[in-house]
Amino acid sequence: MKIVQRPDLKQMSTLKMGGQALAAYFPQDYLGLEALGKIWPELGPDVLILGRGSNILFQDGIRGFSIIVWEKRDDPVVTDGIEGKVMVQVDSGMSLPGLLGWCAKHGLTGLEGLAGIPGRLGGAIAMNAGSYGAETGDALKSVTVWTPDSGIVEISRDGFEAGYRKFRLKYMPEPFLILKACFCFEKSDSVTVRSKMNKYYSLKKKSQPILKNTCGCVFKNPDKLEPAGLLLEKAGFRGKTRGGVCFSAQHSNFLVNLGRGGSREALELISEARDAVLRISGARLELEIKVV
Ligand SMILES: Cc1cc2nc3c(=O)[nH]c(=O)nc-3n(C[C@H](O)[C@H](O)[C@H](O)COP(=O)(O)OP(=O)(O)OC[C@H]3O[C@@H](n4cnc5c(N)ncnc54)[C@H](O)[C@@H]3O)c2cc1C
Repeated sequence: MKIVQRPDLKQMSTLKMGGQALAAYFPQDYLGLEALGKIWPELGPDVLILGRGSNILFQDGIRGFSIIVWEKRDDPVVTDGIEGKVMVQVDSGMSLPGLLGWCAKHGLTGLEGLAGIPGRLGGAIAMNAGSYGAETGDALKSVTVWTPDSGIVEISRDGFEAGYRKFRLKYMPEPFLILKACFCFEKSDSVTVRSKMNKYYSLKKKSQPILKNTCGCVFKNPDKLEPAGLLLEKAGFRGKTRGGVCFSAQHSNFLVNLGRGGSREALELISEARDAVLRISGARLELEIKVV
């Protein structure tokens, strides 16, 4: 198992912000998980399971947690197929864009709306990442997880819940490491799937700063109210800058690191925005990003 002491959190998140964690552990295979289980009690209570860090704001300074990353990403395996449907097993260390590319190549439909979302599959499942009407959990049939107490367990659809930007195992506490997932995709053809992905990617690129250092949407959209981006815009936060960070002028709910932004100014800006939206629209915005 690869171990990195005091890893640089800037390199582990797409926002490129943060100090150092205590250590990062990269189990490469099932033997690595066994080794991790043995040293688990030494890691302390604060352990962060990390994917690509595309939905995370790391704070500056030495943080008191250790990080676990599962990078295994063998090619997806087709396990079954009936009546126009195909069951596919995928390692959670695979990147979401990589899985979409594989689906396009094999003409499998279901995830096209997720084009342009970065991160690994494990993070997409844990966040139930979604866009343009598609959510990661829609076609998900089972997940295989590891915990230090239970080892490796496969959990079928009735053992988990996936909702708006949340995923929960019904009978197992956190933290759990998602190792792989089984999806049921419908058959289509490569040209159709690829052209839908291209369409959604272009829409995203036009409306969101997807090529900047960002962590995606800061706030969840509140239930039955206007989207968080619109509420932020009404409160005057489109393009609002503090030091090295800003809410994007392209999409008010995206926080962008302009280069040397620190977590203090980022958190101040987020807090100011939340207060302003409450004052102006009466909406209590809830964070979508994880602040650690
Ligand atoms: C430019 C940009 C655009 C984005 N657009 C969208 C969008 O349209 N829709 C959307 O929903 N999100 C979007 N996001 C947010 C983010 O990309 C998604 O939430 C993504 O799926 C997170 O994956 P990750 O691997 O980066 O997870 P991380 O950020 O590393 O982790 C996110 C959460 O998942 C947990 N986690 C990660 N891996 C595992 C694992 N293997 N097992 C258990 N738990 C795990 C972490 O503990 C954490 O709680 C965007 C982000 C960016 C930067």
